[in-house]
Amino acid sequence: MSKEEAEEYLNLFRIDDQKYLVGIFQQGITVYKQQIRALNIFYSLVTTERIKYSPDFRIGIIGGGVAGLTIAAAALEARLNVVLVEQEAHYLHMQRGCDIRNIHPNIYDWPDEEATYPSTKLPVLNWRHDTASSVAQQLLDGFEKVIKSIGEESKPTVKRLRQQYNSKRTFVTERIIGGVRKFQIKNYASEDDKTVKTDRFNLTCDLIIYAIGYGIEVGVTKQSAIRGATSYWRNDAYNQTFLDESNNFLVSGTGDGGMIDLFRLKILNFSYDYILNIMKSISYSKELIDDLRAIKKRMMGTDPRMTLFQEFTEIPEQYYMPIIDVIKQDRRLRNIEVCLNSKKENLESIFSLKRNSMINSFIAFVLYKGDLFSFKKGPLKYDEKLKEYQVKAETLDLQESNVIIRNGTNKKAIFLIDCLSSLERKKIQELKELQLESNKISSTDPLWSVGEMYQIFNDFQRLENPAIKKLETRLEFLPIETRAICSSFLSVLSNVLQNVKKDEIYSLNIHRPLMVQNNMYYQQITTYNVNRLHKDIAGVTLPIKEGSVGLSFKTGKPFLVKNVEDNKWGKFLELIKTTDGNHFSAKAKSFLTIPVLAPTPSKPGFNSTCLVLYVEAKNPDFFDQETIELIVSSINGFVASIDNLIAWDQVYMKRLNYEIGSTVDAELSQYEDTGCFEDLSLRSFNNKPFKDFYSFDLIYKNSFERFD
Ligand SMILES: Cc1cc2nc3c(=O)[nH]c(=O)nc-3n(C[C@H](O)[C@H](O)[C@H](O)COP(=O)(O)OP(=O)(O)OC[C@H]3O[C@@H](n4cnc5c(N)ncnc54)[C@H](O)[C@@H]3O)c2cc1C
Repeated sequence: MSKEEAEEYLNLFRIDDQKYLVGIFQQGITVYKQQIRALNIFYSLVTTERIKYSPDFRIGIIGGGVAGLTIAAAALEARLNVVLVEQEAHYLHMQRGCDIRNIHPNIYDWPDEEATYPSTKLPVLNWRHDTASSVAQQLLDGFEKVIKSIGEESKPTVKRLRQQYNSKRTFVTERIIGGVRKFQIKNYASEDDKTVKTDRFNLTCDLIIYAIGYGIEVGVTKQSAIRGATSYWRNDAYNQTFLDESNNFLVSGTGDGGMIDLFRLKILNFSYDYILNIMKSISYSKELIDDLRAIKKRMMGTDPRMTLFQEFTEIPEQYYMPIIDVIKQDRRLRNIEVCLNSKKENLESIFSLKRNSMINSFIAFVLYKGDLFSFKKGPLKYDEKLKEYQVKAETLDLQESNVIIRNGTNKKAIFLIDCLSSLERKKIQELKELQLESNKISSTDPLWSVGEMYQIFNDFQRLENPAIKKLETRLEFLPIETRAICSSFLSVLSNVLQNVKKDEIYSLNIHRPLMVQNNMYYQQITTYNVNRLHKDIAGVTLPIKEGSVGLSFKTGKPFLVKNVEDNKWGKFLELIKTTDGNHFSAKAKSFLTIPVLAPTPSKPGFNSTCLVLYVEAKNPDFFDQETIELIVSSINGFVASIDNLIAWDQVYMKRLNYEIGSTVDAELSQYEDTGCFEDLSLRSFNNKPFKDFYSFDLIYKNSFERFD
């Protein structure tokens, strides 16, 4: 990314050159997207050299939610100093202990293909879908791991992270030190207590990041909680059977929070998995998803405030009404009345991508078509004298109705926080306009290119400690399951090979394709097995067309490469070398690459390479027919076992759209005549074709299948 592009991105969040606000006015503020924003800001600040390594450089972060923790983790990985200030007693205080809500990183992108992918893929603080409580714990564990890794270094006395909880009033003061503008964060322990509690650190910061989120919902107070209207993130019992059959509910608020509570009330033990599985099982499943994708595409191209309602009504009813039938047959429909309430909008206008995710809008639409809830327009008020809730002038009978308030949060409250000057508040008002405008462009995709973030961490760490080795390769996130399952297979295969190749020196590895910023790469997903001829890092990525492995990815064909003529060997290696230098060992005199193919999702009838096994050996004649057959049949067995895991719904398998080319470069094919390069697809191995297979990105499905 160029400096100019980074500046442009920062413009969306810049209060001034040394103060930034992690966006809250953009569309799609979810836990995962807020992490990406935080990291994009960090990355852009490094690119524009506003963050530079120096042993004294310190970032002040206000807010210990997911954005604050994520940017703090990145800064600590880069060995910068951090002051992290949280007004509550704990980080992630909203999500911690919340067992009734589930957080999923991608579900709000539904019906996009990737939306059910259950894991994040970040350079720091990864997590997978689970209860809010567990996601918070995963994030905190990740943060602890970063802190621990610093402690394990040579200078354990350096205290990189200063943490402050319970700071009810936070101020940022400025000083010019040596001609440079610096900041100090001061905290008071209560709203009234004016005793400065925490500037005892006397630490100056070079940069301030406001990661203060947008608070809890409006209208949810201590009093409303006593009346049963609790915050979204507090535990309730609505997902359980009602002990009192006469319960009726009013859900006030039609954003994602209100809709989810409507679903929880009407469908016992509601989960997205439950609904998506029904959708998979109905006759017009494919047509329905195609229609929904087309609608989303149309809506994204236009003003997202346009109503989805009209679009949904144009979908043939037979595509979605069976969903209601299945829910009814399944007896999950609950015998209670639910009324949805919006302050000022009509039912039709609540279905909008500006306000809701597509998945919630669609489920609500289906429930509405099934006549499963009523709707009431008008502001909800609590009459203190009568001790009852009212919508407009209508009184709700509290004997029969419970009220759930999901009126969204008050983003305006951000303008009132103590840390901001009036000038800064004015600036944030401008940022609000800019961010709302930026909804039209996608601003939540990662900005860093493949391996770049790990490289930044490594570069900064080496500036602190030159003894740390330079990271020559591009590392990317690798799911632990993918690595574990493939490593187990590799280990078995290499043990089997050892029996037939007792005194040989060889090593094995597996690669998968990886898409980063619309560019295809392949990634080493296991460490090298057996006798290492080569440096050893799992997670390394290379452009898809490079090296001997790239050859198999590119063509979808298995190849045998061996040194039969010394004078041609060097030139041949030159042709297939990678940009990172030789991806193969200089000692290797033969290599075998075996691809596993999969149907290309977007192009029926076409295959793509989803996995390449790579074996290199010191002996040019290592790969006799018997050995190759042993390897190929092992791969077939391995693929069959993965197929079973998929059939049993034990793993999630991602699909990629990389289409293989059909031919080998003309320059390379001339080596076929020399005998040092062979397209093995022309040979037969037990008459078995390579197995068709989906792309290789394994994630164990949680036994816990729900996500909200
Ligand atoms: C009702 C509701 C439902 C949601 N449901 C989902 C969902 O299902 N899935 C999903 O992905 N996302 C959901 N979200 C969005 C998600 O909660 C936010 O995207 C995420 O919490 C934003 O992270 P953040 O770090 O920016 O802000 P927050 O999580 O709000 O963290 C900000 C932190 O800053 C602290 N803070 C604020 N002001 C100060 C100050 N002056 N001094 C010190 N500390 C301060 C706060 O106490 C807080 O800990 C929901 C949000 C709401 C309100």
